[in-house]
Amino acid sequence: MQVSRGKIVKVVKFGGSSVATGACFETVKNIVEADPARALVVVSAPGKRFSADIKVTDLLYLLRAHIKYNAPYDEILAKIKTRYYEICADCNIDNILEDDFKEFESKLNKKTSVDYIVSRGEYWCAKIMAKYLGYTFVDSADWLVFNYNGRVNLEASYQNLAKIAETAQRIVFPGFYGAMPDGNIKTFSRGGSDITGSLVAAALNVTAYENWTDVSGILAADPRIVENPRPIDRVTFSELRELSYMGAEVLHEEAVFPVRNKNIPLYIKNTKDINAPGTLIMEDFDEDRTEQAKIRPITGISGRKHYSIITISKSRMDEEPGCIRKVLAIFEANEINVEQVPCSIDTFSVIVAGDALDDKLHAIITRIEQEIQPDSIKITNDISLIAVVGRNLTENIGIAGKIFTALGENGINIRVISQGSDEVNIIIGVDDINYKKAIRVLHDF
Ligand code: ASP
Repeated sequence: MQVSRGKIVKVVKFGGSSVATGACFETVKNIVEADPARALVVVSAPGKRFSADIKVTDLLYLLRAHIKYNAPYDEILAKIKTRYYEICADCNIDNILEDDFKEFESKLNKKTSVDYIVSRGEYWCAKIMAKYLGYTFVDSADWLVFNYNGRVNLEASYQNLAKIAETAQRIVFPGFYGAMPDGNIKTFSRGGSDITGSLVAAALNVTAYENWTDVSGILAADPRIVENPRPIDRVTFSELRELSYMGAEVLHEEAVFPVRNKNIPLYIKNTKDINAPGTLIMEDFDEDRTEQAKIRPITGISGRKHYSIITISKSRMDEEPGCIRKVLAIFEANEINVEQVPCSIDTFSVIVAGDALDDKLHAIITRIEQEIQPDSIKITNDISLIAVVGRNLTENIGIAGKIFTALGENGINIRVISQGSDEVNIIIGVDDINYKKAIRVLHDF
């Protein structure tokens, strides 16, 4: 493969719902064959065929639990195998997995690693897909290597894959896993096939990474809250990071880093609506910011509920350096991630996810009292943080004022305001009961 010599090559990754049935495989084939550049395919394990269905990966976790607790597992195993038999039959290809299934079954015992068991969902799927497309199957354990600390060894992985790509031109890879230095299988966290796709793209420096899923790109707000939210046609990596951190779920959070480092454009596309434009994600766009700001100052809105605000007051705190540091150190010692720290002269607040506090709250309060002897500590629970994200926010004078007016006119009390230092987002805190209403107001704004 000569990607570096100007050849157009794309990585196409298909998520579980895009490889759930034989009919889905046919759609994948149509997509792949529609563009000769789609030479590198990454697949997840077959996902749900209907809403009450169970994903193959979940069945594999269940299988492992049965083995671990000595419960009979024949039925689950049969269910898993049937998913693949049905796909082969629907795609009119021979069942090529018999030997793999035999090997798998022979390895099953209480000590079999969970990562090995669940990784087979992707492994088998990629084998069938390779056969169906007439592509070469490459096991991700043969190139994607982790260090013992659990991080991907990028240098070794990229080198391994570049070598493989010298001889194979059109490849299908299983997503979700690689190998530890001792050869044992290691998986990413759930949804990790997105990362595999990104690593293949970065390793071979391809033209584009297309991530095919079952939604038409990234939406400007959660469709469970806003009816028909606007699709986002273009979003920068920084905006996407803000949106995903605050709850928007389209891509695995870690999937952006490999392609971002190599400046490879990432597309989110929909297998169920092939012609929909989807979303293009890039480092930056060549666009007139001022013009764009007038058309669309806000790219998207996302948020999360159930935060707690711990407000600490102490008169003349401004004359006592170190107060905030001492308090933050207490949260750090308790391994609690601090989201925001709004400050005034004699008061500051620490905002954290409510469930992180659960059984640690009393210990933390006691420690703060010992450390800085505050006048008062007040806890406010059930707060939502909403991120209004937009690369053009800075170009739009008065946008913050307009946002607050819109919320005020709709009777929504703002409890926290904070603008990110890169000015890509404005964070607004409201009571949980106003969460959905605030998102709707901001989307229609
Ligand atoms: N099959 C794995 C999961 O369900 C990985 C993936 O789909 O990306 O999480």
